[in-house]
Amino acid sequence: MYRTHTCGELRISDVSKSVTLAGWVQRARKLGGMTFIDLRDRYGITQLVVGADAPEALVESANSLGREFVIQVKGTVVERQSKNPKMDTGDVEIAVSDINILNKSLTPPFTIEEQSDGGEDIRAKYRYLDLRRAPLKRALELRHRIAHECRNYLDAHGFLEIETPYLIKSTPEGARDFVVPSRMNPGEFYALPQSPQTFKQLLMVAGYDRYMQIVRCFRDEDLRADRQPEFTQIDCEMSFVEQDDVLAMFEGMMRSLFKNVLGVDVPNPLPRMSWYDAMDNYGSDKPDVRFGMLIHEITADAQGHGFGVFDSVPYVGAIAVEGAAGWSRKELDELTEWVKRPQIGAKGLVYIKLNEDGTVKSSIDKFFSPEELQAIAAKVEAKKGDLVLVLCGPKRKTQTQLGVLRLELAGRAGLRDPKVFAPLWIVDFPLLEWSEEDGRFYAMHHPFTAPKPEHLDLFYSDRKEDLERVCANAYDFVLNGNELGGGSIRIHNADVQERMFQVLGIGKEEAEYKFGFIINAFKFGAPPHGGLAFGFDRLCALFGGQETIRDYIAFPKNNQGRDVMIDSPSRIDQVQMDELCLASTVKQ
Ligand code: ASP
Repeated sequence: MYRTHTCGELRISDVSKSVTLAGWVQRARKLGGMTFIDLRDRYGITQLVVGADAPEALVESANSLGREFVIQVKGTVVERQSKNPKMDTGDVEIAVSDINILNKSLTPPFTIEEQSDGGEDIRAKYRYLDLRRAPLKRALELRHRIAHECRNYLDAHGFLEIETPYLIKSTPEGARDFVVPSRMNPGEFYALPQSPQTFKQLLMVAGYDRYMQIVRCFRDEDLRADRQPEFTQIDCEMSFVEQDDVLAMFEGMMRSLFKNVLGVDVPNPLPRMSWYDAMDNYGSDKPDVRFGMLIHEITADAQGHGFGVFDSVPYVGAIAVEGAAGWSRKELDELTEWVKRPQIGAKGLVYIKLNEDGTVKSSIDKFFSPEELQAIAAKVEAKKGDLVLVLCGPKRKTQTQLGVLRLELAGRAGLRDPKVFAPLWIVDFPLLEWSEEDGRFYAMHHPFTAPKPEHLDLFYSDRKEDLERVCANAYDFVLNGNELGGGSIRIHNADVQERMFQVLGIGKEEAEYKFGFIINAFKFGAPPHGGLAFGFDRLCALFGGQETIRDYIAFPKNNQGRDVMIDSPSRIDQVQMDELCLASTVKQ
């Protein structure tokens, strides 16, 4: 036996036991003739001590230990003179009688402690060393716990975990596919699944009416700050359900996760908000509802006062920032520059200060009387001492800008506490999204999402305005300003599916080539069905109180989509290229 106990296990009740431990040397230090060693494994750290009166060979061996050496020690558990209440094992130490060096280690390039001194790049390169650190270990433990709870809940509700293939053909999630050349079929390619969408629907056709899978998905997107080219979903589908059935099932799952993993109670039932309300009031389809600062439309009050900027746009909106009336000119200028950055794209920022003494001060004083400014402030629900910030322009665009501003200011004010959880459902999405650029509709969710039955007539209309009004039977699960999951009731009728492709400008031939298999399957008794998928990595990060998903993935990629540890992607040799019938246009 390599060890009798782990390094996180021994307590005061174990005093005088003979034990054998094995692990990594976190650090060794000499103190008054004694050597203290922190021995670490996955479970914790135990202090070892080699006394001043120990045999010379033992002292020598203890003094030869470097950081991250792997050792096995034998000894006796003794009570510590100076206890460390911060450590689970802090009441005891091991009086070492024997040290066996199992393996030496090079000096690690950064400290392997709660807080490392290593920068992100070096830690990514030596990920296996970074993973020895307690914060990462806790993250992976949390990930395991959540996966386990999910499976338990879904198993108890009759879901089968069924694997679907990775080498498939293009899926319709709207991102770019990763492709894999087929050696056996020269010139042909597999696509890696952007999600198992079509397969889970085929499983419904096959009669497996409750499917789940914790599954990897692949999307070749430009990696915005916190995306990964491969990520994990909790993917689910059910048959013979309506939207309410799906929402009830999965908010049950989320409720049990919150309760069993975090000990947090969330409302039952969860709040629901329509997409339209979310956009109008929060300027986002994934509203953070932990705080107010709602967006208010003030177009009618703002126009007709001779202020050309307001008069020439379709929408004027505002938010009230609590207690910010005292902001200086400099602070307001800084904020104006901030909203004008290309990522946000506002043209300018108008303010109204509601001073504590009841007076108002505004950048548009010239055009509005104090009473008119007060009336606008009242509409925005601002009180004395608050600051009203106004943006204007096209409606959705301006609301989105106000939404971003709202989040930024709430963040600065400390209103986005990661330990407060405010989940909700967003429902009643538009089915289609018009792209001015491409002059065509795109599916807001994906092309298998069903229109609401009461909107079927509109769906068959040829007028753009009608089609824009069609609502989808789609829903998103939103937590603290993050879209954590989304899904829909699906089209299960071949005619409606064909109409959908037609609306999306996908010709009959193209639809047949890309999705013929599923249209065909719908002709063989497809049951009504629907489902959703949760972003598992993000779920873990939010449960862990972190913004970034990278710590919750054992071997993540960097912002350029590279795994710098294994150095991938990398070139392949000419033989492989030839076998795959690939010609490189990149200079090698
Ligand atoms: N396949 C969808 C997605 O990845 C989820 C769903 O509709 O079930 O977003």
